[in-house]
Amino acid sequence: MKRFIIVLGLMWGLMMLIAGCAADTKEPAPEAAKPAAVKTETTVATAVPKGIPVLMYHKVGPDEDNDAVIREDLFRAQMKLLHDKGFNPITMEQLNDYVCNGKAVPVKPVVLTFDDGYADTYSIVYPVLKEYGFAATVFVNPGDVGTRLTWEQIKEMQKGGVTIASHGYDHVRMNELSKSEQLDNIVKAQKALKDELGIDNKWFCYPYGRQDDYTQKAAEDNGILLAVTMNPGWVHHGDNPYALQRIWIGNAVDLKHFEERITTEDYTDL
Ligand SMILES: [Zn+2]
Repeated sequence: MKRFIIVLGLMWGLMMLIAGCAADTKEPAPEAAKPAAVKTETTVATAVPKGIPVLMYHKVGPDEDNDAVIREDLFRAQMKLLHDKGFNPITMEQLNDYVCNGKAVPVKPVVLTFDDGYADTYSIVYPVLKEYGFAATVFVNPGDVGTRLTWEQIKEMQKGGVTIASHGYDHVRMNELSKSEQLDNIVKAQKALKDELGIDNKWFCYPYGRQDDYTQKAAEDNGILLAVTMNPGWVHHGDNPYALQRIWIGNAVDLKHFEERITTEDYTDL
C-alpha cells in the first residue's frame, strides 16, 4: 500500500512537470492578497470543480458592428446575472492554484478577464466590479498606456483589488516576432509593470491569442505562471498553464447564451 502511494505521488509529480506548473506557487502575490474591489467573504463554500470558465472581454461600448465589443447594458446584465445566480469570480492566483495544484476554489467559479486596457475598463467596468465585489484581471500593453487607460487609472484599479497583468509590451502577434524580439517584448512589459505598479507580474495574455513554442518558454523564463489564449473552452486542473482556453464574450452572447457558457463546457458555438 505504502509503495502504491509513493508511486501515485511520483506519478502526480511527473504530471505536474509535464503540465509545466511551477513547483512553488505557495506565495500569494501582494496584489492578490488584498482583493478589495473584491469581497473578503469567508463564508463561501469551496470545491474542486471539473472546470472553470474564463471569460474574455474586450471593449464595452456602443460599437455594434465589432464582434469583440459588448454593449454596456448587456455587460451590466451579465454581471448582475453572475451576482444573482451566486457565481464567484476568482483571482488568477486562485485559478493558478486550481490548474497547477488542483486546489479548491469558491463554488460556481468564473474568471473575468479584460484585454487591451480600454478606457471603458476604468469608466464602465471598474465601477461595476466594485459594486458587486468581483475579482477581475485586466491585461494591458505597457507600450500603449496613455492612449487608452492611463497609469493613474490603472493604479487606482490595482489599489481597488483588480489584478493588472501583461498583454505584451506592444499589441503584436508573438508568433510573427523573432525569438529575441519576443523575449524583449515580454521582458520590457514585465519591467514596466514592476516600475509603474511595483508588481512581479505572473499572468500573461497572448495578443490576438498568437504564440509559438518559444513564447511559452519566454513567458515561463520571465516569471509568468499562467498564460491565456483565445482558444475556446473551459480551463481544467492539469491543463498546460501556458495555453489556457477562454470563452469569448461579445454582443452575440445574450443572457441565455451567457448563462449557458458559464454552466456547461458544451456551450453553443455562436
Ligand atoms: Zn488584445
